[in-house]
Parts: sequence; C-alpha cells; structure tokens
Amino acid sequence: MPNYDYDIGVIGGGAGGLTVTAGAAQLGAKTLLVEKENELGGDCLHFGCVPSKTLIKSAHVYYLMKNSRKFGLPSMDLPPVDFREISKRIRSVIATIQHHDSKERFCKLGAQVEFGQPTFADEHSIRLNGNTYSAKTWVIATGSSPVAPPIKGLDKTPHITNKEIFFLDRLPASMVILGGGPIGSEMSQAFNRLGTRVSLVDMAPRILGKEDPDMADLVRDVLSSEGVKFYLDSAIEEVRDLGSEKEVRIKTKEGNTVCLKAETILVAVGRGANTNGLGLEDIGVEYTHRGIKVDHRLRTNHKHIYAAGDINGGYQFTHAAGYEGGIVVSNAIFRLPRKVDYTFLPWCTYTDPALGSIGMNESSAGKAGIEYKVWTEEFKENDRSLAEGESIGKIKMILNEKEKPIGVQILGPHAGDLLAEWVAVLNGKVKLSTLAAAVHPYPTIGEINKKVAGTFFSPKIFSKKVQKGLKFFFQLKGRACAEDVCSE
Ligand SMILES: Cc1cc2nc3c(=O)[nH]c(=O)nc-3n(C[C@H](O)[C@H](O)[C@H](O)COP(=O)(O)OP(=O)(O)OC[C@H]3O[C@@H](n4cnc5c(N)ncnc54)[C@H](O)[C@@H]3O)c2cc1C
Repeated sequence: MPNYDYDIGVIGGGAGGLTVTAGAAQLGAKTLLVEKENELGGDCLHFGCVPSKTLIKSAHVYYLMKNSRKFGLPSMDLPPVDFREISKRIRSVIATIQHHDSKERFCKLGAQVEFGQPTFADEHSIRLNGNTYSAKTWVIATGSSPVAPPIKGLDKTPHITNKEIFFLDRLPASMVILGGGPIGSEMSQAFNRLGTRVSLVDMAPRILGKEDPDMADLVRDVLSSEGVKFYLDSAIEEVRDLGSEKEVRIKTKEGNTVCLKAETILVAVGRGANTNGLGLEDIGVEYTHRGIKVDHRLRTNHKHIYAAGDINGGYQFTHAAGYEGGIVVSNAIFRLPRKVDYTFLPWCTYTDPALGSIGMNESSAGKAGIEYKVWTEEFKENDRSLAEGESIGKIKMILNEKEKPIGVQILGPHAGDLLAEWVAVLNGKVKLSTLAAAVHPYPTIGEINKKVAGTFFSPKIFSKKVQKGLKFFFQLKGRACAEDVCSE
C-alpha cells in the first residue's frame, strides 16, 4: 500500500475547504490545507457574504435616518455618505471574523496550513512552492469567481465586481449594475440607499430568476419605489469608456436603444469555477466552465478526489459549501457512503424586504408536475411587523396533494431567520398541526409561521360540518347576532 504524506489534502481555504479541514483534523486524520491567498476565509469572508451584509446594514441605517419621520421622529438634514468609513467598518468586521478563520486556529485543531498556488503533479500529489505533498484523498474546494460576460467593449472599459465594490474610496455618484441575480439586486438597493443613482440591466424579464415571479416582482417593485431604475428584458450591446463616465448601450424588448451613463459599472452576471492552474487536465479530472463534475457523494471521476462548494457548480452558498464539506468528511474519513440531498436547502436574498426560500416554490413544483396548493399570510396582518414599520411581503406555504408541506417562500423582514423554524419543521418532518398548535411569543414576526400553518386548519376546524356536529352533541345555540347585522 502506498505511503502518502497525508491522509487528506484540501485545496482552498473557504467555507467548503475549512469545514473539511476542521472535521478531518479533529477526527485524527493527518490533514493538509492549501490556500492561494495570504489568509483563510475565502470569498464569503473577504468579498461575499460578510462585506455585503455589513454594507447592507450601513445602507439600512442611513435609509432609516433619512426616513425618520416615518417613525414619528424629527426629520434630519443628513450629510452625504463617506464610503471610506463604510469600508473601514467592513474591514473591521472581516478582521474580527478572520481570527476564527486563522492559520493558528486550524493548526490547533491539528491541520497543517500552507499558502501558495498548488498544481497536481499526479493523482495523489501536488507541487507547491517547490515541494511535493502527497495525500491519500484530495478535496478541491477552490470556489468561484465573477464571470466576465462577452460584451463588446467590456474588456476595454474599467468596471468592478464583488472583489472591488466593498473597498471603494468614495461612493459612486451613479452605477449601472449588469445582472439582476442576488448580488446585483442586493447591491442595487444598498448603493441606491447610500445615495448612488443606480440602474440595473438584465436580459431576463425579471430579477431573481430562480424565485417565484410574484415574489421577485414584489422585490423589484420595492427597489423601484426607492429609486432603482430597471431595464429588464434588455440586451447589452456595447460598453464604452468615456473617461470620467462609462456608457452601457442596451436594446430594450420594444427594440429601443438606450444609452445609460454612469461613473461605475458593476458586473454581477454569474460565477465561474476556479479551476485555473490546478492542472486538472493533466490528471484527467473532468470539469466544464460551470464546475468540476461530481457524483452524489461529491467524488470526481477519480474516486479519491472530491470537489465541494462553489467549485462543483451546484448551489453557490456558504451553507451549501459547509454542508458539502460535511458530506466529504462522512465519505472520506468515516467511510460512510453519504449522498448529498438538497431537498430542503434554504437560501435568502438579503434585500429589504428579504426573500427566503426552502424546498419547492410554485415554479419548481409546477415543473415537477406536482399538484400543489398555496397558503399565504401577509406581513401587514402581523402585529409586530406593523410596529416595526415592516409590513410589505408575505409568506407562502406550499402543500402537495397529500397536504404535506414541500416548500416555503418568505418575502418580508428577517426572512432568512424566519426560515429557521421551517428548516426544523421540514427536515424533522414535524406535523403542520404541531406548528399550528405550538405557542409562539407575542408580538413577534415569527408568529407568521404559526399563522400560515393555522390558515390551513382554520377552514377545516371552523366548518359548518363541525358546527353541526357540536350543535347535535352539545346543543350549542349558534350565532348570537345575525350575519346581516355585522355587515351594517
Ligand atoms: C457578493 C457576494 C455575496 C454573497 N452572499 C452570500 C450570502 O449572503 N449567503 C451565502 O450563503 N452565500 C453568499 N455568497 C456565496 C458564498 O460566498 C459562496 O457560495 C461561498 O464562499 C463558497 O464557498 P467555497 O468554499 O466553495 O469557496 P470560497 O469561499 O470562494 O473559497 C475558495 C478558496 O479557495 C482559494 N483558491 C482558489 N483557487 C485556488 C487555488 N488554485 N489553490 C489554492 N487555493 C485556491 C480561494 O482563495 C478561496 O480562499 C455570496 C457571494 C458573493 C460574491
């Protein structure tokens, strides 16, 4: 049996790679982690979730200050935003979390951490900084990067991506965002709230294309009402550098040509897998531009090489990468043949209101040919939402033909947090009646979860049939006032 230097080698120190490293090292596997940057944490910590949510919070506070009268407070004459201060806050939040993702922490857990850009020398070893490291099992977790779309002139026109947007040294006066996915949508609202004039262009007819149209359209309506200008169903024809301004020429659905001018262009049209430089071709690991091909156990075509996180082109979320890291540990270290199951993988787009989703939505249930029914509850019926001034949105609970919940969509305040209860209900196969009967604290926004489950049972419990039965058995006397009197 060959004698390898390590039991497991992990390439990429982001959410996926760190999960595998921590798990494997703590289970006693001799673990090597290789990261190409100087710090661990990956995109989520440095250019993704953490900076975006920190920026969104600053934008939200500024927006509340500008709208203080809505809360019965005096109006304020606010100075413009100094973006360097926001960047400073972003850097400080990243630095705090960085301690958790430090080389020292992983060293304490028992892993060896090396920085540099590795290349596979053969199926079991990499070359790194002039040395060779071999491992019985390898995990590729190198994440993804923003894709540069083939738009005429874009390569000659300065533009930014998620790598630069959080660290600008001043707030752009205007911005054209290419792409209406989660990143484009979140950033359009945040920058608009901070004072940038934002236009968003997408070739699709709606933003957030994976979501149900009614929910996505509601997000767009809110963003529009705040001032974001949308150019949907529009083809980007050319981008030009005009010096202090950039021009984006688009053709609308109606065939009109529109020239949008802005100080900054943000490109957020999708992500491509970070496969460059790994030498995957040389060892025959199969991949496309979307990602490395894996089976249900996240094994590549070489069964001892796994690919977890954004790199495999699946669900591109930090929690998905973490989940996949756990699957790899089960398969590679415990040798338990565990398959991935994304049935109840939740996600959330952190616009305000936020749009969270778990399980099937109407679109995916329809595509799967499932006969479903939708139960909804609006946030304007929730007492706490009204008190908070957050009454836009609704929750949709989707039941299959057996009246079992198969998915929930929430558009409203703290949608991501509200999903947590559904994570437990759906994964734990908790009965809807249990959720509907469980006491929730009042007044909370979370009561909406109980309420929507209750709306399913109400017509059954308060039916004529039940009334008739109770009348028969217990001689109940029926209505105390005539129906027509109530409507007067
Ligand atoms: C703006 C933005 C906002 C986001 N917001 C959210 C959110 O709110 N919630 C959410 O769940 N997800 C969010 N995401 C997605 C999330 O960041 C990714 O899904 C997550 O980071 C994927 O983890 P990963 O481990 O696969 O890759 P990464 O975290 O990107 O880690 C990959 C690591 O591999 C390293 N690497 C790359 N190539 C090599 C190489 N050749 N050799 C060695 N190391 C290499 C990289 O430097 C990096 O450290 C957001 C993304 C962006 C861009």
